[in-house]
Amino acid sequence: MKKKYDVVIVGSGLGGLVSSIILAKEGYSVCVLEKNNQFGGNLQTFVRDKTIFDTGVHYIGGLDKEQNLYSYFKYIGIMDGLRLKRMDEDAYDIISFDNDEQEYPHAQGYDNFVKQLLKYFPDEEESLKAYCQKLIATCDTFPLYNLNNSDVKYDPEVLAQNAKEYIDSITQNEKLRAVLAGSNFLYAGIADKSPLYVHALSVNSYMQSAWRCINGGSQITKLLIKQLKKYGGETYKYKEVTGFGFEDNKLVSAKTKGGTEVFGDIFISNIEPKTTLNLIGKDKFRKSFYNRVQGLECVVSAFSLYIVFKPNTFKYLNHNYYHFKDSSLVWQSMHATQESWPEGYMASMNVSAKQDEYAESMTLITTMDFNEVAQWQHTYNTAAEETDRGEAYKRFKDQKTEQFLKEVEKKFPGIRDCIKSVHASTPLSYRDYIGGHNGNLYGYVKDSNNPMKTFISAKTKIDNLYFTGQSINMHGVLGVTIGAVVTCGEIVGKDYLINKINSEVNL
Ligand SMILES: Cc1cc2nc3c(=O)[nH]c(=O)nc-3n(C[C@H](O)[C@H](O)[C@H](O)COP(=O)(O)OP(=O)(O)OC[C@H]3O[C@@H](n4cnc5c(N)ncnc54)[C@H](O)[C@@H]3O)c2cc1C
Repeated sequence: MKKKYDVVIVGSGLGGLVSSIILAKEGYSVCVLEKNNQFGGNLQTFVRDKTIFDTGVHYIGGLDKEQNLYSYFKYIGIMDGLRLKRMDEDAYDIISFDNDEQEYPHAQGYDNFVKQLLKYFPDEEESLKAYCQKLIATCDTFPLYNLNNSDVKYDPEVLAQNAKEYIDSITQNEKLRAVLAGSNFLYAGIADKSPLYVHALSVNSYMQSAWRCINGGSQITKLLIKQLKKYGGETYKYKEVTGFGFEDNKLVSAKTKGGTEVFGDIFISNIEPKTTLNLIGKDKFRKSFYNRVQGLECVVSAFSLYIVFKPNTFKYLNHNYYHFKDSSLVWQSMHATQESWPEGYMASMNVSAKQDEYAESMTLITTMDFNEVAQWQHTYNTAAEETDRGEAYKRFKDQKTEQFLKEVEKKFPGIRDCIKSVHASTPLSYRDYIGGHNGNLYGYVKDSNNPMKTFISAKTKIDNLYFTGQSINMHGVLGVTIGAVVTCGEIVGKDYLINKINSEVNL
């Protein structure tokens, strides 16, 4: 490790790694510091019973030729190396309910999206078309979504439009409302808060094209690091940043737990802003900014099941399920009681290189409030720093696993007989592996009632400190990639960077 770099990046999540490549490509010397023993943050995979599981990437959108993520990934040089499987064109997501045998598809392609749902809602052609048009129009107000470098003048009306209100306004059909909003776990939807633009930016790219990563999302990390190395960048594991150094009021270094001090000219924090502000020092920011960030509401956390199937027992499904106990719970499932939990969940399959008729595994995710695990909040357990959280925690996990599986059996009868082993993660796992406050899934809650309150600029008041990652702009693979372009645009010039991306991609 050198004593000094042009750019020091704290955290090797997608935002940190994409930023590192963009800047290394510009000739900056770059160093990425990661606390874990695996790079990638939410892109990390893990293995149970010889089976690979994803933590935070179950499917990705916009990867067809000339679509937005394709172009961004092409620019950073990872597109051609990705091993992807296209999901069912007529149903990449299925929305379903306990008391309804019908399954409602979300299809790829706008015309196809309308066509597939018309089968179940024959009188709703107008609403379905209006819905697609609205999503496209909403995404178009975010220039970088379309690799456009026109000046960002966010339209206050777009930011303040509420997702549920909009969806409810286009149809009186309660079931269709639930079906259109059914994948809102993608952004942990909250009825009276989630803005329509968050819904549109999350859903629209899958409607364009939806893909799974063969053998998991960590291939993205491997490709990113390979690219970074090509441009001379460096990455270091087991380097938890615990503080920053200042000289003459200028930020000069990142200090790690092991006592390493890494000097730099520019610092990019890929970790949560709440934490970054505390590591930098409260006194270094305006009180109002510090308080606003510390007061931001975090997105809920999750409890996940990772099922390893016995060989040749459970058919591979090339789509995800968003399943609810009832269609009235689509916006409510995170308010489940101890007894009613889980009221809704997402089920996704890992796709293995063998591409078998049968699945090796399945991941099921539902929301869980951090309070459920608050009594163990003082424990910390990762592969880099292993601790046993104790018997009571194990019993808690077993009980929740059983409760969750009982719900899953209703949708997939006989699934229990196919299970070889089942593993679980709690909000503590997300907190410890990613470092987000209370194990939040996607950063901070965006609120249509007060859109600017949650806006955090990539450029901070400290001249050489920048933010990137899912708490800035948008979460998700696409959102975070675009966010990294915003962050680097602050450093190298936005117009310059977008023009360069466009000209390289269109070569
Ligand atoms: C359960 C789940 C499912 C998801 N599914 C999808 C999906 O299907 N499709 C999709 O597009 N998106 C999905 N996402 C969202 C997507 O994975 C994330 O938005 C994205 O990966 C976040 O990237 P990031 O740059 O914010 O970094 P993060 O993933 O937040 O990583 C931050 C990194 O910083 C490191 N770090 C933290 N503190 C320190 C420190 N003090 N010093 C050094 N390093 C530190 C962490 O260890 C971590 O590696 C999902 C997320 C979750 C949680």
